[in-house]
Amino acid sequence: MAEISGATFLDLAGLSDEEEALRTEVHRVAVEVMGPAARALDQMSPTERIAPGSPFFTVMATLKQLGYHRVFVRHDGEQGANQISPLAQSVVLEELGWGSLGLATAFLVDLLPMLSIANFGGDELKAELLDPWLDDESGRFHGCWAITEPDHGSDFLGLRDEASASFGRAQTVAEPVTGGWILHGQKSAWVSSAPIATHAAVHAQAGRDGNVSHSLFAVVDLSDPGVHRGPPADMMGVREDPQGELFFDGVFVPDRNVLVPPGPLYPAFVDQLLCLTSSVIANVAVGVARASFEEALRHARNRVQGGGPLVRHKNIQLSLYSMFEKVETARAYSRAALAHTQSSLPGSTPTATGASPRHARAAQVFAKRSAFEVAHEAVQVMGATGLSRDTLVEKLFRDARCLIVEDGTLEVLALDAARDLIDHYERDTYDLEEMMATW
Ligand SMILES: Cc1cc2nc3c(=O)[nH]c(=O)nc-3n(C[C@H](O)[C@H](O)[C@H](O)COP(=O)(O)OP(=O)(O)OC[C@H]3O[C@@H](n4cnc5c(N)ncnc54)[C@H](O)[C@@H]3O)c2cc1C
Repeated sequence: MAEISGATFLDLAGLSDEEEALRTEVHRVAVEVMGPAARALDQMSPTERIAPGSPFFTVMATLKQLGYHRVFVRHDGEQGANQISPLAQSVVLEELGWGSLGLATAFLVDLLPMLSIANFGGDELKAELLDPWLDDESGRFHGCWAITEPDHGSDFLGLRDEASASFGRAQTVAEPVTGGWILHGQKSAWVSSAPIATHAAVHAQAGRDGNVSHSLFAVVDLSDPGVHRGPPADMMGVREDPQGELFFDGVFVPDRNVLVPPGPLYPAFVDQLLCLTSSVIANVAVGVARASFEEALRHARNRVQGGGPLVRHKNIQLSLYSMFEKVETARAYSRAALAHTQSSLPGSTPTATGASPRHARAAQVFAKRSAFEVAHEAVQVMGATGLSRDTLVEKLFRDARCLIVEDGTLEVLALDAARDLIDHYERDTYDLEEMMATW
């Protein structure tokens, strides 16, 4: 049984003592640190949110002090890709999502450049960036993932689409020079944490000719000359994580920072990376769904209408059941998808042949849709109280609405999963070598 704000709930996975202790600890951080900061940040202007002293930096420093970033990224020289089991990772992700979708997003995008260096970087880059990032206990470093562009949102998340060659030229272009590449162009206004990030994992088209699928993937130091940032965006939800544009005006990127060069590996890499981000976001979405459900349950037990508590009314009972069913099924499937992805990504084991896009995308679609539906039902159960700016459910609803666009829209993710199941249903995974050969 897991502790939640004084209540308990049955976790069907039967967590070990260590996993249970980890859940209790992360839940405490979600309640005491993330939740209050998220509610304060949600009310602040975009510029206030990124000003020195903002609660955003306090939360990021706390997560670093607790070493949660080290849980997801391998220490150099240690065996195995992860420090804790996939189930424990799911538990941590759910609690972070429960605490704040925006702060969980900020935590996750911080990981992406360094996780990529851990897997693809050379020793020099690891010593320069990964090691100090792993040792960071003050929030000195913060990463972001710059993939989408003003004219390429869904395009970058659908490179397996047969039509990807027609998607056109990217707006961030890398041109080869001696010893590296020169970056020109810009990324979309929605890059999470870009206004405050120190490093970015950047996708850039290699050379002026070609299209978005002929790109490279590099880690860029955002203090380098030629990097500029747009103002932080003012979004409907997920407001606690600042989003903004990145502009590159002749930024030199040394070869050693290019983790995936242009070539047949690039689209396969992006596809597998999206399997990881999909199954990770799915587990975070479960936390958002559970937070909404618990708010509605608490309210329905206490609010009296029609001569008794709301929970006595059949329609409210059915709503609560429906929310519970979605949380439980989303949790079970998201955990299975993350565990499968972690053990199937190329390099995770000597025999791993690749994660399954249809399963990872389905986990993301199901969990994100569930989070939105549960938040929607929670608002209804709470009546006008659920619409008030003073209630958490009002914020959860706005966050859950943003979540069904963040990291790929439900439609584009589902279409991508459909392509995979139509072509590869009878196989464990698609053939990465065949995919690279047809590039
Ligand atoms: C909270 C949040 C955080 C984000 N964080 C990041 C980040 O860290 N880094 C980053 O780079 N980006 C980030 N994004 C951007 C996000 O990945 C994109 O918003 C998303 O992929 C959709 O792209 P778009 O907004 O350009 O919409 P579009 O691609 O313009 O889509 C608009 C509509 O058209 C549909 N559509 C588009 N293409 C197709 C197609 N081929 N077939 C059928 N339907 C289609 C979509 O489903 C959607 O309904 C974030 C967005 C949000 C909301």
